Amino acid sequence: MIGSVFGGGRGRPWAALCLAVLACFAAETASAADCPGHPDAIGTSRTIVVDPRQYPLIGTMQYGKTLPLEDHEVVLTFDDGPLPKYSNQILDILAAHCAKATFFLVGSQAHANPEGVRKVRDAGHTVATHSQNHPTGMDRLPLDRARQEIDQGIASVTAALPDGTAPAPFVRIPGLRTNDGIEEYARSKGLQVWSADFPADDWRHVSAGRVYDLAIQRLEAKGKGILLLHDIQPRTVVALPRILRELKARGYRIVHVVPATPERPVTPTEPQQWQLHPASELVAISRWPKIPKYAAAGAAALPAPALSDLDWRSTDLGARAQRRTRGVPLPRQTPWPRQMTLPPEGTLAALPVPAASLFKITESTRVTMLASAPSAHRTEGAAPAPRATEASAKLAGKLRRHSRSAAAQPPAPDTGHPAHPPQHADGTPPKPAAPGKKNARSVRVAGLKKR
Ligand SMILES: [Zn+2]
Repeated sequence: MIGSVFGGGRGRPWAALCLAVLACFAAETASAADCPGHPDAIGTSRTIVVDPRQYPLIGTMQYGKTLPLEDHEVVLTFDDGPLPKYSNQILDILAAHCAKATFFLVGSQAHANPEGVRKVRDAGHTVATHSQNHPTGMDRLPLDRARQEIDQGIASVTAALPDGTAPAPFVRIPGLRTNDGIEEYARSKGLQVWSADFPADDWRHVSAGRVYDLAIQRLEAKGKGILLLHDIQPRTVVALPRILRELKARGYRIVHVVPATPERPVTPTEPQQWQLHPASELVAISRWPKIPKYAAAGAAALPAPALSDLDWRSTDLGARAQRRTRGVPLPRQTPWPRQMTLPPEGTLAALPVPAASLFKITESTRVTMLASAPSAHRTEGAAPAPRATEASAKLAGKLRRHSRSAAAQPPAPDTGHPAHPPQHADGTPPKPAAPGKKNARSVRVAGLKKR
């Protein structure tokens, strides 16, 4: 079905093709000046021909690409029709402005109102599809069901056209609720998935004034793009004339979009035109967002820091950092050297960083054992007994040191850490270790007193 219009395989009716070309030609030549009887019409400034296979996903509400519009160009789109009561009024308003749009029709609606589909097509608008039944959560459907929705939607709209011509290979997923499987399927069928650049919330319970405000404000925020509206909403019927008048007043231009055919070549574009705001050499800030993206991608590859990385005396620090971050320049001077005063090299080598915390843990473990197990009490029985009789804490501390040197045999739990006691005796212990040891002993003495 798509092939007949887009791929060109078994080109069905020439008549239909001619109609489409004529419609395109009419759109290209139409302008405000060429809208008979409507001097205030905005008109359609130009028509662009797109190849869905080149850009299968468009609309910055979801994707990185959008239609190749110039600044102040707008593409009008209407979803969910045809619903005669409102769709016909929308068509009248657009006709009064000689403005061409793209209609994403629902298959079941087309089946119920085939005349509505023909009216859209005969008015020169682009007929596209919007699923068969407009499921609310198409992304949660099994992929087979989602495919069926797309296929049946196209079939129903095609059936409504008298000459059997297919709709344009443009599809919009209901509620924009798409997923990878749906997008891949659309791509495989040569369909272009249309998101939008901004909605006007006209499907919500808001006033027509609000729809107008949102349409204009959101367009102004982006400067150009695809406007998403619904031709089945009364508020849209009320808001649309005002929107079109305001667009014209603000210098916006309507662009019509049609699919390429063998007889209708693609409008030449550069890839960057498919970005809403292409990076410019003159606007430096637009290039910045690429940097965090790059750094985040590189971070996963960074090696875990080694102890040697902390050697601030290394002269090639800047060079090494630059290599690891793949060329992203880092400041040459780091604040580290100014903050740190390290002991001489020999001391640093003999004093591993984790030693202090390790000692702390061992001491408190021993305290727990002494407090709970009578056997632990007995092993140190000879030493603690005289300590416990001392009333003064200072005296107890002195005695502890004396008895330890006199005993010459260290208690069992300390044997795992031969390096520590000498350091302690020198009077130059690492600060965190010393208080921990003292506290642990005083707790032990208190525990013995109680017993
Ligand atoms: Zn919809």
